[in-house]
Parts: sequence; C-alpha cells; structure tokens
Amino acid sequence: MLQVENLTYTYREDKPSKLYRYSLRVEAGEVAGILGPSGSGKSTLLDLLSGFLTPDAGAILLDDTPLSALPPEQRPVSILFQSHNLFEHLTALENVLIGLHGNTRGTSEEMARARAILTSMHLESCVDTPVSRLSGGQQQRVALARVLLRNRPVLLLDEPFTGLDPATRIEMLRLVRTLTTDHRLHTIMVTHDQTDCDAIADRVYRMVEGKLIPEHPNNRR
Ligand code: ADP
Ligand code: MG
Repeated sequence: MLQVENLTYTYREDKPSKLYRYSLRVEAGEVAGILGPSGSGKSTLLDLLSGFLTPDAGAILLDDTPLSALPPEQRPVSILFQSHNLFEHLTALENVLIGLHGNTRGTSEEMARARAILTSMHLESCVDTPVSRLSGGQQQRVALARVLLRNRPVLLLDEPFTGLDPATRIEMLRLVRTLTTDHRLHTIMVTHDQTDCDAIADRVYRMVEGKLIPEHPNNRR
C-alpha cells in the first residue's frame, strides 16, 4: 500500500504564502482519482511524491518503507504528463527504451520486453515509426509503454488525456485501469474531470482549500 500521511508543502514565495496538505492511501492494483480545479495543488502532490519538491512535514510510505529521503531517480515512481515528453524524431521503440537508461540502447532482453509491451498495446506496426507520425492516442500509448518498461510500482498521471478526443480518452482510461490491475500498480490519477474518476477510480479525493479530502462515499469499486 502507498500511504501519504499529512504531507505538507508551503509556497513561501507566494504572498500570502500558500500551504498544501495531503493524506491518502492507494492499495496495489488500485486507482486513486484526485479532483480539483486548476491551481488547487494537484500537481504539487505529484511533485512531492516524485521528489522534485521537498515537503515541510509528513510521510510517504510504500509497503511501510519511507520514500521521502530518496532522490527522484531512486523513487519507485513513474510519471505521465499531458505533454508526454516523447522525442518526436525517435521511433516508438527508441522512445520506450529511453525510459530505462536515458539513451536509445538496450540489452537484447530489454529490447524484447519493449517490443512485447508495444505489442500488448497494439502498437506492433509502429515500433520503428517516428512518433511524430503517430496519432495523439498512439503517442500516449507509447508514453505509457515507456512507463511500464520502467516497472516502477507507483504510477502518477497528471491530466494525461486532456488533449485527446473522447473515444481515445476512454480507451486510454480503460488501458490505465487494466495496466493497474495486471501489474498491481499504485496509480494516482490527477484530473479536473469527474467523469475520468467515475470511469476508473477505486477511490476519489478532492482538493478543497489546499487540503486533500476523501470524497463520500469513498468506497471501492
Ligand atoms: P494544479 O496542478 O491543481 O493546477 P499546482 O499544484 O500546479 O495546481 O499549483 C497549486 C498552486 O501552487 C498554484 O496556484 C500556485 O499558487 C502555487 N505554485 C505552483 N507552482 C509554483 C511555483 N513554482 N512558485 C510559486 N507558487 C507556485
Ligand atoms: Mg497541474
């Protein structure tokens, strides 16, 4: 289980300074949805979890192991943004491999795994295609494939499907649901859209005046 206990962060440069406080739980195989309008502190939570911001107080525990002291590259965390950070001139396969070591090389075992993941996402015909020639939905699947190859147990999604058409968006939400279940991921999905949460979230939280509050009823699916 991923546990966040009273994690707090203050933007001191804002006048007046703004304090954010987060508590949440996500079991392996679950999706937690985080709702809130723009500027309510959703991305701040993901920055704290991935180690790009240092909290004032509180704890992050994965299966009772504290993560807060680890630098970002050592955290068991992958993050997917709306701007999916793909290299447009590299192929789908190269973009997936780059998630492992920061370059496009890989061992033959890693190449085989990358190809298998792309195939499982119905991208086998695009393996050697530059991602600039792929559709928005295909590009987001390549970005998700990269996340999966990294094989980190915590998956953070920051409004990743906002720019997609409704049908592709639903397809991607279903894919996140399936991947979370199959790989026993702890998935935190930030969105400003209630219907994303209705579609796939096991638990739903909402940012209210700088605090993360469980929605009622906050039951399992
Ligand atoms: P959301 O993802 O919900 O849109 P963010 O977590 O990105 O919200 O930002 C929450 C608030 O934190 C913003 O309204 C802003 O006041 C403050 N903030 C975010 N980034 C910075 C920054 N780099 N410097 C100062 N304040 C920031
Ligand atoms: Mg944000």
